[in-house]
Amino acid sequence: VMLLDARFSPTTTTSIHLRKQIKEPLGLEGKVALITGGASGIGECTAKLFAEHGAKIIIADIQDQLGQAVCEAIGSSDSIYAHCDVTKEEDVINAIDIAVATYGKLDIMLNNAGIMDAYKARVIDNEKTDFERVLSVNITGAFLGMKHAARVMVPARGGSIISMASIASNIGGMATHAYTCAKHAMVGLTKNLAVELGQFGIRVNCLSPYAVATPLATSYLGLDEETLEKKMHSIGNLKGVMLKTDDVAKAALFLASDEAKYISGHNLFIDGGISIVNPSFS
Ligand code: NAD
Repeated sequence: VMLLDARFSPTTTTSIHLRKQIKEPLGLEGKVALITGGASGIGECTAKLFAEHGAKIIIADIQDQLGQAVCEAIGSSDSIYAHCDVTKEEDVINAIDIAVATYGKLDIMLNNAGIMDAYKARVIDNEKTDFERVLSVNITGAFLGMKHAARVMVPARGGSIISMASIASNIGGMATHAYTCAKHAMVGLTKNLAVELGQFGIRVNCLSPYAVATPLATSYLGLDEETLEKKMHSIGNLKGVMLKTDDVAKAALFLASDEAKYISGHNLFIDGGISIVNPSFS
């Protein structure tokens, strides 16, 4: 028995050690994350999750009261709010400079701010001004976030840039023309940046969620949160499984963490597989 004990104890120690490692949360301890559009919906949920995992947070949004309330919920020593309209380069510069001045660096940039215009099925009915407004927030805003994140991440030789695309980054007919264009463009921009910034240890990825009940989705679809959730519940590919903001936040957490250290230039779908279903089989 003594001999057996001696032989098996190292294995036991190793397996306990492995189990402990697996149970450890995805660490963002000591990291600094800026989240555009962090005052509401997916951005708010992600800000809170990142903070729970040890990150210092900068919320950059135009909804000042909501943004400040998110910071209060996180705690004033771990978060700061910056008014930032992502379409204005000076605002983006300012928010990133606040991050660096307050916490000394920027490790994670989440380009999440986004809007949706009113659905008009026929292209002929779409106004140029609406089209440009959506592109301006959803893609130019992300470009500015990437540009100025790179400005501070390149000298630091590291970082993770994540942008919020959508299932509309890959298929047509899910959203308005402008929104679909912007989200397709997000994938191209992500790939270009991933190629450019890889040499500096900076990873660049995007996320493509299916519909989540946030103010953006409920106002676009003209449904309250409960009705939208019921509807998605019945038409999703994983029937009976609802996509929630924290499912998107967890995917962002993974891409932000060092666990994803070899993942760059990727568009990660959080859609229960709906974008790969052949409709004739569903
Ligand atoms: P939301 O409306 O709850 O949050 C969007 C946030 O962006 C708001 O806080 C808003 O104030 C902010 N914002 C808007 N314009 C801005 C600007 N010019 N500058 C700075 N901030 C601005 O919506 P959400 O669903 O959480 O959307 C977050 C992201 O997720 C968006 O990019 C959206 O396209 C994407 N997305 C959402 C869904 C969905 O079904 N909800 C699905 C796929 C992708």
